[in-house]
Amino acid sequence: MKNDLIESIVDEVVKRVNEEMCVPIEASGKHVHLSRADIDTLFGPGYELSKMKDLSQPGQYACKERVTLIGPKGAMHYVVVLGPERKETQVEVSLTDAVVLGVKGLVKESGQIEGTPGIVIASATNMVQLQRGLIVAKRHIHMTPEDAAKHNVANGETVQVKVFSSRPLIFDDVMIRVSPSYATFMHIDYDEANACGFTKGTMGKILKKST
Ligand SMILES: [Zn+2]
Repeated sequence: MKNDLIESIVDEVVKRVNEEMCVPIEASGKHVHLSRADIDTLFGPGYELSKMKDLSQPGQYACKERVTLIGPKGAMHYVVVLGPERKETQVEVSLTDAVVLGVKGLVKESGQIEGTPGIVIASATNMVQLQRGLIVAKRHIHMTPEDAAKHNVANGETVQVKVFSSRPLIFDDVMIRVSPSYATFMHIDYDEANACGFTKGTMGKILKKST
């Protein structure tokens, strides 16, 4: 057998084992989810966000609209707005972003914004002062019920994930979130992505904790 044939077979086997045992990873940059009231303030009453690109999670999309985050120590421009609109505005940044802005970065699950810091969000024409809602998203894996069964994990469970990359590492305290409306992807922020040398296509393997 020729070497390149053997190589292509090995590549295919590795790919299939990865698909079976691993989850694909995506890195999320800083972004904003806006409430109806805050969309009205920032862009005008009744304004509809314009979809630019679908995201991996069904129904979620990046919008053309960009905003500026203004904190006590710094500002960040061209921050993407994700749709659809939410019940309450939520700003997701990395711990590094929080340092630049001069706000306390609290690691929280999406939606858990009780006690989180506020921030100013500005559009080209107006601004809103959030009283709360800035979080550093806790790393998590969205999973379909089928994949959760395959990996033997349940909604709300935390696991470790070994990342296969140029700087492999094991992430601890990774939240499992299961819903039929999800697509299976692990989400990390840019601090975590840089820490593990993430590139597009990086995969992770779930390691169940012994404790
Ligand atoms: Zn996510």
